[in-house]
Amino acid sequence: MILVPLTSRQPPAWQRALQDAVTDPAELLALLGLGPQWLEPARAAARRFPLRVPRGFVARMRHGDACDPLLRQVLPLGAELDDVPGFGTDPVGDLAARSGAGVLQKYDGRALLVTTGACAVHCRYCFRRHFPYDEENASRGGFEPALAAIGRDPSISEVILSGGDPLSLSDRRLAALFDGLRAIPHVRRLRLHTRLPIVLPERIDAGFLGLWSAVPLQKVVVVHANHAREFDGSVRAAIESLQSTRTTVLNQAVLLRGVNDSADDLVSLSETLFEAGVLPYYLHHPVAGAAHFDVPMATAQRLVAEAGARLPGYLVPRLVREDAGAPSKTMLPPASR
Ligand code: SF4
Repeated sequence: MILVPLTSRQPPAWQRALQDAVTDPAELLALLGLGPQWLEPARAAARRFPLRVPRGFVARMRHGDACDPLLRQVLPLGAELDDVPGFGTDPVGDLAARSGAGVLQKYDGRALLVTTGACAVHCRYCFRRHFPYDEENASRGGFEPALAAIGRDPSISEVILSGGDPLSLSDRRLAALFDGLRAIPHVRRLRLHTRLPIVLPERIDAGFLGLWSAVPLQKVVVVHANHAREFDGSVRAAIESLQSTRTTVLNQAVLLRGVNDSADDLVSLSETLFEAGVLPYYLHHPVAGAAHFDVPMATAQRLVAEAGARLPGYLVPRLVREDAGAPSKTMLPPASR
């Protein structure tokens, strides 16, 4: 059993930072010195999907720059209210993959646990922003039904903890989940999909590292960064700490218009990731959650070809599309040059 040390009543620093996130569009604009013309559209879009961004992430944004690539990922815009054909509420077929108890099974050998609906940051392009977390959430009422479902299926060798963001769960809840998973003999690999090491690196603290290092499974953490400027010293330190626990760290990014849609941006992201010890894994296309971020397919393939010509092969992310009902992600080849 993984023991979580008893601590004082004071919540850990990461939980205080989580609670202290910026949620008011007016405050975000004021912090960045941006004019009032952004406020009403931001308020209207935030009524559908609230603004949430940790202050440490805001501090990495450029003051006075409404086109800052970090800001664009979190600032609600009026364009989100447009209904655009092809950009539905379940773009990657999550609902059809539900098997109950917060377990999604899309691909052979792997099960994805929707562990929580909570995230430290609300990414405006999120493809799960309409997901029915109230109905399909493994942590609701305890993890036992989800663990039992995984235990009944010996074909599952890898469990992916997703959400929402699994690292927004407390150490106590994570310890219970890790204990349950390690007791299932056919589960050999545990993967976390999380944006917290990037947007709230305080989360990778001694408490978490203690319980994560005690997990005897092969461990993979897939972080989510879209732009090189998301990295600072605290992010690099968090990733280094994860690596000290024998964890493979990969990155998945989303190709986003106005954020990282140039070969320079993609090259810089890959190089920054590798300097931090992270390998680029997927570059998702198209953006399923919001049409105004979409990059045309031909452009996406050309950008990856251009970036690929400037990078060693191991730093070129795989351009992928997720098709509802498909047995795996669809690899999209770079354009021939
Ligand atoms: S962290 Fe992931 S799940 Fe959460 S809002 Fe961003 S993209 Fe969506």
